[in-house]
Amino acid sequence: MAELTHSVADMIDQLGRLPGIGRKSAERLAYHLLRVPKTEALALADSIRSVRENVRYCEQCFNLSEAARCPICTDPNRDTTRLCIVEQPRDLISLEQSGMYRGLFHVLLGRIAPLDGIGPDQLTIDPLVDRVRLGKFTEVIMATNPTVEGDGTSLYISNLLQEYPVEITRLARGITAGSVLEFTNKEILADALNGRQKL
Ligand SMILES: [Zn+2]
Repeated sequence: MAELTHSVADMIDQLGRLPGIGRKSAERLAYHLLRVPKTEALALADSIRSVRENVRYCEQCFNLSEAARCPICTDPNRDTTRLCIVEQPRDLISLEQSGMYRGLFHVLLGRIAPLDGIGPDQLTIDPLVDRVRLGKFTEVIMATNPTVEGDGTSLYISNLLQEYPVEITRLARGITAGSVLEFTNKEILADALNGRQKL
């Protein structure tokens, strides 16, 4: 069998490092990118470069943003008395799409997962506590995923926030335990927001 050229072998190697992509898929993607028009392949390369150079975390809520503060934090029409805590930017997007929530968010960028070596100090919990201490929130809504780790994270944070005069609620359990927010349809998420309960 002929040797792969160095650059093709390198691309297969790079693609194969992506989550869920094995060697076979990496090869298939690489040959696809060689076959499509050059402009199409380069558009993908450009979009990866653009995202990595322009997108960062919002300095206030840790949502993805192309400016220091994200569009939600800078929107003057949001309800600044409510703060909804989620694990990942994609959870924030799911809740936004439910159309039921007009408050602010805080993205933890993960969840406490002792088995994976992820402790509270690797999340954005310190800035969260500062926000609650300095802000004018009356309600903090825990919207971590209904998994063992999501629940543990929520409990840890609600204990930290006990000393502040905010009501702590969590999403109603219309969401099946163990399911993941980003895959929950927006009607169920809207119900979960409407039926939120005191924690
Ligand atoms: Zn923000």
